[in-house]
Amino acid sequence: MLPGLWRLRLPLPWPGVPHCNAWAIAAGSGVVLIDTGMHEPGSIAQLDRAMDQVNLRVEHVRLVAVTHAHTDHWGQAATICDRAGCELWMHPNHEHATRGARDPDAVLAHRLEIGRRSGVPEAALERYAERFQRGGQSGIARVIEPDRPLLHGVKLDTDLGEWTVYETPGHAPSHVCLFQPERRLLISGDHVLGRVSLYYDYGWTPDPVGEYLRSLDVVDTLGARLGLSGHGRPFVDVAGHIDASRGLVQERIAAVLGALGDGPRTALEIAPIVHGEPLSERNASWLLAETLCCLTHLERRGSVQREDGRGAPLWRASPTQP
Ligand SMILES: [Zn+2]
Ligand SMILES: [Zn+2]
Repeated sequence: MLPGLWRLRLPLPWPGVPHCNAWAIAAGSGVVLIDTGMHEPGSIAQLDRAMDQVNLRVEHVRLVAVTHAHTDHWGQAATICDRAGCELWMHPNHEHATRGARDPDAVLAHRLEIGRRSGVPEAALERYAERFQRGGQSGIARVIEPDRPLLHGVKLDTDLGEWTVYETPGHAPSHVCLFQPERRLLISGDHVLGRVSLYYDYGWTPDPVGEYLRSLDVVDTLGARLGLSGHGRPFVDVAGHIDASRGLVQERIAAVLGALGDGPRTALEIAPIVHGEPLSERNASWLLAETLCCLTHLERRGSVQREDGRGAPLWRASPTQP
């Protein structure tokens, strides 16, 4: 890595996503910390250890800025800000995370709503609810209000130069990327990853897929040469990764439309066709949210129509495709 820039690799308790990255950037007598890792038992000791390996301490943090309000990126913000006595900067559209962190019942209610809109039977939703309530961990130390909103054009000063904030909603409504123009470094959060994958928060904004595609265009114009993402190793060929992300979005949208080829279906019926795997309690809320986001996007484009009857909406391909 560059002098003055450190990747802190922090473990996550999630199958398939074993780590997230926090990035420490030298800034005067301390560091700016981008992202925090998730809050769970022992997690702050893991951050201490990762910082210790590069001769840093939490007390050196002068500012915490987060790419977005998913638990793995801001869960420990309150603990770090308390210990370091520093500010938190975050995008103001963080309700998708903070509402649930303040009220765990709201998280469950939102997931159940996704299930209902997809056509998941009530009995399966009840089982899911029981298991969810036994799980009980929010991943957030404590909700603190950001001291400054990370809006488009906000600058962060570091020893590597000034970083500019670009709003990049889609993956999450609160997502931002940070760009350092002289070195052409992009802190890309979960917007562009080394290993291309898609995730959208459903139900907080009108069209997460459309927002995500526009946000890919935003970072595409920057000409970054190195991507520092929220998971996985840094990657070159940022433009190639942006293209691959765009390609995967289009592929999924086409697959959702294709699944409606022989008649109307619910999201619950569409998701396993698109992903070529059965839904399980582990993947259902992710894959159904993604399917609903694709359907919403297609509806806005005029490619699908929704029939709201009793129960979950049925989706059908428009007779004439735009
Ligand atoms: Zn995320
Ligand atoms: Zn993440």
